[in-house]
Parts: sequence; structure tokens; C-alpha cells
Amino acid sequence: MNDKIRLRYIIQVLFFVMVGAITLNHSLAETGAGISWLSNASIHALCPFGGVVSVYQYFVSGTYVQKIHESSFILMWIAFVLAVGFGPVICGWVCPLGSVQEWVAGIGRRIFKHKHNNFIPYKYDRFLRYIRYFILIWVIYMVAVTSKLVFADIDPYAAMFHLFSDELAAGGLIVLAITLATSLLVERPWCKYACPYGALLGISNIFRVFKIRRNNETCINCNRCTDICPMNIEVDQGEVIRDHQCISCLKCSSEEACPVQKTVGFTIGRGGTGDAC
Ligand code: SF4
Ligand code: SF4
Repeated sequence: MNDKIRLRYIIQVLFFVMVGAITLNHSLAETGAGISWLSNASIHALCPFGGVVSVYQYFVSGTYVQKIHESSFILMWIAFVLAVGFGPVICGWVCPLGSVQEWVAGIGRRIFKHKHNNFIPYKYDRFLRYIRYFILIWVIYMVAVTSKLVFADIDPYAAMFHLFSDELAAGGLIVLAITLATSLLVERPWCKYACPYGALLGISNIFRVFKIRRNNETCINCNRCTDICPMNIEVDQGEVIRDHQCISCLKCSSEEACPVQKTVGFTIGRGGTGDAC
């Protein structure tokens, strides 16, 4: 595991533990047993997507959607600035649901070896990846007309951190179970096919400042960058990655993937000539 892959793993674990501890403290605080020095914010206050779905109501009436707080707006802006600079790093480095899917996929890889993450034929898969944009439009529209977090009842992210809380929604638990079970077959199934926030952040791949770039001149066409990509992006086919599914995980630019130094990089300039990380 090289340095940037190790750093990403540490950050993923830190965010998972931090969000888990805060949301557990939220449940404890409701029974009077909360830890005083630790934040007891709700899971909705820790979700930048809550800010996104509240934008319409905030501009129309100056109020937040039910259960959404100012913190969601602040997180939304931080995620937006990061996405403009580096793409969906929130997905690849921070989101605990993304991390858990990756960890479960590690078990799937051991069971299914090379078959893992290659079960769905490309001709269907490339269309299925756009479903998340329909979900995004549906969620934003429904929250705007109902002023309620309609998504909360089927949200696997909320369910994951409500497992020990009476706020756990049956729909969310079912979607979480399906997500984790299918992670044994496919990398990040929720992110690829269903996550509305991942869909929104994915748009940043078109215009982000730092992009994944491959240097055609030094590339030896071994395809290892493509093989390692959890989102099945054909890194070896282009010089600049603008695919809406890239999560900025940097696996393709790691030494573990590319045997030729500085051929795939995370750069601001042209070609894969250097690695800014
Ligand atoms: S796509 Fe969604 S679930 Fe996946 S990492 Fe991004 S925000 Fe999290
Ligand atoms: S293209 Fe590279 S950075 Fe983007 S998701 Fe694939 S492996 Fe990760």
C-alpha cells in the first residue's frame, strides 16, 4: 500500500469513527446519557446533501427543511469547493457509506477474484449508471414540494448510523442490507447506481481543476490502471478522465497500479507527467 492509498484509508476510517461516535452520542443524549465533551449532532446535521435539498426552500422562505441545520449548508459549500478543485473526494475519501461498501467489497474480491466487479455486461451497465441522476431530480423535486426529507426513510447512510437508534427506518435498513450484500459482487453499488449526492458531485469531473491524466507517451498499455479502478473507468483509453463516475480515489495513479512512474497522475497540467499528491 503506497502513501496516498494509506492516507486515504486512514481518512476513511477517521471519518467513519467520527460520524459513528457523534451519531451514537446523539442517541445517548436523548436518553440523558450523552457524553458532554462530544458533539451530539444528528446524522442529518452531518450530511452535506441535506444542504443541497434545502437550497430551494432556503431561497424561497429563508427556512431549512425539517431536520436540516446550518451545518448541512456549511458542509455543502465545503464539499462544493473540494469538488471544483479535486472532484468527488467526498465520495472517495470521506463518505462513510462509500468506505463501508469498499471494505465489504474486499471480502467479495477474495471470494470472486477477477469476476468481482465485472458481473454486469458493459452494454447494460453504462446506462444503469445514469439512474442516480433520476433519483437526484426526484429527491430535489419531492423535498421542494413537501418540505420534508422524503429520502430519509430509504436512505442507507442514515440507516447505517441509526442501527442502535429508534430513528431507524425499515426502508433504509432494507436498502442498506441490499447495498452491503451487492457490495460482495460489485464495488460501491450504491455510489454507482443510486446515490443522488454522488450523481451531483460526479458532474464536477467535467470541470474540476486537478484531474486524473495519463501520459500516452510513457504508457505501456498494460491496462492495470483500468483493472484497479473501482468504478470500472477505462483509464487506459483516454488521456484525461472526465467520467462522471470517478471518485478521485487515486488508485489508478498509485504505484500499485501503474508500473511506469509518473504516467498516471493527479495533476493540473497536461498529460500524466507528474503526481500532485
Ligand atoms: S456516491 Fe454517495 S454513497 Fe458513494 S461515496 Fe459518494 S456520497 Fe457516499
Ligand atoms: S479513474 Fe482513478 S481516481 Fe477515478 S475512480 Fe477510477 S481509480 Fe479512482
